[in-house]
Amino acid sequence: MSSYLCGMEKIKLIRGDITKMEADAVVNAANSSLMGGGGVDGAIHRAGGPEILEECRQIRAECGKCPAGQAVITTAGKMPSRKVIHTVGPIWGQQNETESDRLLADCYRNSLLLAVKNGMKSVAFPNISTGVYGFPKERAARVATEAVKAFLAEDTSIEHVYFVCFDEENYRIYEALLVNNQ
Ligand code: ADP
Repeated sequence: MSSYLCGMEKIKLIRGDITKMEADAVVNAANSSLMGGGGVDGAIHRAGGPEILEECRQIRAECGKCPAGQAVITTAGKMPSRKVIHTVGPIWGQQNETESDRLLADCYRNSLLLAVKNGMKSVAFPNISTGVYGFPKERAARVATEAVKAFLAEDTSIEHVYFVCFDEENYRIYEALLVNNQ
């Protein structure tokens, strides 16, 4: 893994696999079924083990499907983090662009709100919606960084937010936005 401290000292950019992160919470780019999937969702369930799906099943039974923009919390199972916050990103093309931006920003904001509610101080995010959900990467990175910065400007309890980029393209985009302030 490689990492950069960014202009805002609470935000850190990481290149690597989010399942290896030691944060209070790692965020999963889940789908609304909460029953697991491919990409980062599959990696998190594989690394954390069956306990995560078990808790997701209970949440599903009690609350139904998780709509885009919302977030729920479970154990992190065998992963080094304490909790997984599962949030559902918007599928690009299912709403107009403004609504897609709003829903994606909600993912970051509601995940952080849930983290605060559960006493978490460090949260690691993947690049939500930029895989199979097809959100343009640069646009998603702008929405993500603005949403997190806005949250941190109001909040005093979160100490570290990590943007964990798995692919080179996202890493370069975040580097330009966060490290080089472009
Ligand atoms: P979505 O359905 O929200 O698009 P995906 O899992 O398909 O979710 O992709 C979201 C992002 O997660 C992509 O940028 C992909 O490169 C990244 N990703 C995939 N596996 C991992 C992992 N193990 N750690 C961190 N990010 C990952």
